[in-house]
Amino acid sequence: MRKIIVQKFGGTSVADTEKIKNVARTVIKEKENGNDVVVVVSAMGHTTDYLVKMAHDLNPNPSGREMDMLLSTGEGVSIALLAIALQAAGYEAVSFNAMQVGIMTENVHSKARIIDIKTEKLRKNLNEGKIIVVAGFQGVTEDGEITTLGRGGSDTSAVALAAALNAERCDIYTDVEGVYTTDPRVVPNASRLEQISYEEMLELAHAGANVLHPRSVETAKQFNVPLRVRSSFKLENLGTLILGVDNMEIYKPVAGVAADLSQARIVVCDVPDKPGSAALIFSKLAKENISVDMIIQSYARKISNTNDIAFTIEKSDLPKTMATLESMKNELNCGEIKVDDNIAKVSIVGAGMIDRPGIASTMFETLAQNDINIRMISTSEIKISCLVDKEKAQQAVKALHKVFELESDEVAVVKGDLPDV
Ligand code: ADP
Ligand code: ASP
Ligand code: MG
Repeated sequence: MRKIIVQKFGGTSVADTEKIKNVARTVIKEKENGNDVVVVVSAMGHTTDYLVKMAHDLNPNPSGREMDMLLSTGEGVSIALLAIALQAAGYEAVSFNAMQVGIMTENVHSKARIIDIKTEKLRKNLNEGKIIVVAGFQGVTEDGEITTLGRGGSDTSAVALAAALNAERCDIYTDVEGVYTTDPRVVPNASRLEQISYEEMLELAHAGANVLHPRSVETAKQFNVPLRVRSSFKLENLGTLILGVDNMEIYKPVAGVAADLSQARIVVCDVPDKPGSAALIFSKLAKENISVDMIIQSYARKISNTNDIAFTIEKSDLPKTMATLESMKNELNCGEIKVDDNIAKVSIVGAGMIDRPGIASTMFETLAQNDINIRMISTSEIKISCLVDKEKAQQAVKALHKVFELESDEVAVVKGDLPDV
């Protein structure tokens, strides 16, 4: 039986028609290797940002449904153009949007999860020898409503398709040569990782390393999809392989550093210190589909018998969060609700930090030496995150990257030139 390879090309890789021709050449190469190929593409260049801006010019608070209708159009353009380019090169190709394939999601706008992917149409077309081009980032509900998976979600479309089709591999082609020890745009001599575990990559992606959408890594781990991140501009480089932790040799305590500038911090002051207060806040937020990241509850003040509860959320959820909190203020009997969106979460990640003391203290000391104040701390087995002032985030990343000896002698190539073919 022929093997199925899923390839995904991000916005930079399909930014203009020259780059789409380059993508077509890469797809054809895989097809000529004797494989069946399913290609997932994102919207061209900065199309999605441009669409978001237009909506906000018209309405500061556009409805989720119409935003998904709007944003899903970006990928519609690139799938058709890539199929046209493949046909021009003499190959049979067909493009499908999420509705045509049956990429079924939950009924949630702007960050829907994929529930199921129908494979009949895909298999039929692959059996006819066609190259299939699928729109990333979008899905459809049982009622036929268009949804999107969250910014950067085309990675998740690709991995979910690879899982559904039992593909041999999922290759994520992007504008850098793999996963680096930190964002090479921030630290140019970051090191490319030959391989990284699903667990570490998941933490890095959640911590703001937007080279992969977190849910794509979650899906790859769950279904054991071999995942590779590589450059669409430098094909000789195999990039980074993401695989199970058992197959890895861990030699450094920290694998990578990341910063997330998309969060806001909320402090609910003077919450009565009694059972049910935290449950009330977070169950109401969960009902509104608002994800909460770091949470801190202060030591109870004896005189007033109250706590402060601080937590972070995605900035884009801020209006919904504030509305939800305001609506329960009486029931909760709390004090002031404070918001701060001038913050960044800086994280170090590494499976090698398990049972190795001193990693946290090195992180805190390094931040202190750089005069960076820590406003919140959270940890997992393989991650330590500190909330700092936004303007200090880059300095923090650079200092941590250095102290944990992650630098390389080479400068990373971001957005390489098109190869000569
Ligand atoms: P695409 O449009 O191909 O999906 P993205 O912009 O979503 O590309 O992701 C690639 C970008 O991720 C890179 O250009 C880089 O700036 C950024 N990035 C952040 N952290 C990392 C990291 N640890 N390794 C590699 N790239 C990273
Ligand atoms: N086009 C979408 C975005 O810009 C999805 C993606 O690129 O993965 O977020
Ligand atoms: Mg992306």
